[in-house]
Amino acid sequence: MFLVGLTGGIASGKSTVSKLLSELGCNVIDADKLAREVVAPGAPAWKKIRQHFGDKVLLENGELNREKLGEIIFADPQERRILNSLTHPEIHKIMLWRIFKLFIRGHCFAILDIPLLYETGKILPYMTYTIVVNCSKDQQLERLMERNKLTEEEARGRMEAQMPLAQKVKAATYVIDNSGSLISTEKQVRDLHGKLQRSKAHWRLRLVLSSVVMVTLGVLFYVFS
Ligand code: ADP
Repeated sequence: MFLVGLTGGIASGKSTVSKLLSELGCNVIDADKLAREVVAPGAPAWKKIRQHFGDKVLLENGELNREKLGEIIFADPQERRILNSLTHPEIHKIMLWRIFKLFIRGHCFAILDIPLLYETGKILPYMTYTIVVNCSKDQQLERLMERNKLTEEEARGRMEAQMPLAQKVKAATYVIDNSGSLISTEKQVRDLHGKLQRSKAHWRLRLVLSSVVMVTLGVLFYVFS
């Protein structure tokens, strides 16, 4: 089995490509969705956040008061690091468990949809391939303003908070050019899906694992015979 990291810049079209890949039957693990799951009331990271930050970061219904939490971590980088240290391990645990289940079921690859794949860099070494969804800066700005109902200044601020998209494109194995029509993007995604299906990379892990099993069996046989 092999892992494919899917990323992009804000509003470059990552979610659009992620949805297309799911529709083609790919197993997509969405990091944003997992991040919401681990902080749902009663979930492991929610409990740790409550313990550290107190009830002031909760709404009446028990859900996280994202605005309040946002204010705290915006004002204090140390608190941001603490919040990340409470949520990230929980997200990674679920991610690993999902990947393991896919592996056991015999799937050849899984797509990890991670907005900040390059910015955080932690998961990057485990990716056999990376896909970056690209479009021009003007399109990114226009789509972001439209989708999030932002002013130009606000949208530029969010874009500038991320690593420049051009830098991610340079580091990518595959680039989806989402500057044209959705039909053009769909075609590229279909072609890429074909390439991933034809990739032989999944044999590497199978080969390593079967070698480990064979050596272990060999040693056991030698010791007990
Ligand atoms: P991301 O997940 O990278 O933030 P999205 O996939 O949500 O970006 O796309 C950002 C916005 O641009 C959405 O409103 C989406 O509908 C729109 N969009 C995406 N691709 C195209 C395209 N090829 N043409 C026009 N609009 C697009």
